[in-house]
Amino acid sequence: MPIKCRKCGGPHFTMKCGKTPTISKLNDNYTTYKVKIMNMPIDITYDNLQYMLKDWGDINKFYINKFDKYECSNVILHYSNKEQAEYFVNNVNNTDLNYKTLKVFLV
Ligand SMILES: [Zn+2]
Repeated sequence: MPIKCRKCGGPHFTMKCGKTPTISKLNDNYTTYKVKIMNMPIDITYDNLQYMLKDWGDINKFYINKFDKYECSNVILHYSNKEQAEYFVNNVNNTDLNYKTLKVFLV
């Protein structure tokens, strides 16, 4: 199956898209919307993630949990903007990264 970006339709993984999402910024509030990404590569680093996530809205912080047994990592993102969190989930869930299908959901 050819790689097709869900954001721009280009031939790259959606996670690696450089296009900025068109989201109108809401007023920040103090609620945190947590997004969980399962099946990330085991060798993902904070630098890799920072680069991949830079065009996906205002992410306050993120954590990587590595699971050596399953050779994958889970990542938790903290958004303060619900629309941006939902946009990320809707566009990245079920996309492939390094031959694994990412499972993305709000927690
Ligand atoms: Zn793209």
